[in-house]
Amino acid sequence: MRKWFLLLSALLPVVVLLPAHPKAVAAVEPTVSVVPPQTVTLTFDDGPDPRFTPKILDMLKKRHLQATFFIVGKNALEHPDLVKQIEQDGHTIANHTLTHPHLETMKPGGVTAELQGGDAALTSVLGPSFPVPHFFRPPRGNVSPAILNSTEQLDKQLILWNVCVENHTTTTPEQVEQRVIKLIHERHGGILLAHDGELDRTLTVKSLPRILDDLARDGYRIVPLQEYLKDQQQTVSKNSLGV
Ligand SMILES: [Zn+2]
Repeated sequence: MRKWFLLLSALLPVVVLLPAHPKAVAAVEPTVSVVPPQTVTLTFDDGPDPRFTPKILDMLKKRHLQATFFIVGKNALEHPDLVKQIEQDGHTIANHTLTHPHLETMKPGGVTAELQGGDAALTSVLGPSFPVPHFFRPPRGNVSPAILNSTEQLDKQLILWNVCVENHTTTTPEQVEQRVIKLIHERHGGILLAHDGELDRTLTVKSLPRILDDLARDGYRIVPLQEYLKDQQQTVSKNSLGV
């Protein structure tokens, strides 16, 4: 209970800005952002997809960056070689359900089945020795009591995001770059969400190199999710001590 609460609390100032998910935050009190300064972590949702995932893996490899891929189980089963490539490249494999349903409308049994189905799909592709994914992101960022309970029961950590690359107001790589960089500057870093599957992600693939190069130029650290969360915990501790 404590892990997801801390994370939700930390991300709340951003989640509030997401009009698509008003129910997700109704019961949580606003708090001060404790995102570690000048640090970004990269996350990708909805893949793998042969149209976009290989291009994203290439751009990450060229820049020696590690990201977290929140994989939809059914896509993993359709494209097992891409999942293996993600894992071989050193990225973190995370759970994004089996079929990407509207999880927030489902009963507890159905929610748990979706999470376990996502794990089972990844295990069937990567083998039984592959550790069950610890990180989970609910589709569309929607959260319900059943989702939170399942996440806790399965000993997973729920991860949302601070800035999303895709936005209906930006239609060129330059516009996407400017909007994302502005938001990251305003928030001094955060969890960046981009998508590598389901819809046409051509604009994302064209925009990401610009964004990554801007962040490097501006002195941001781009770190794996595990490291980002560790930094965040230390920031929370320092804040609570008044440091
Ligand atoms: Zn998704």
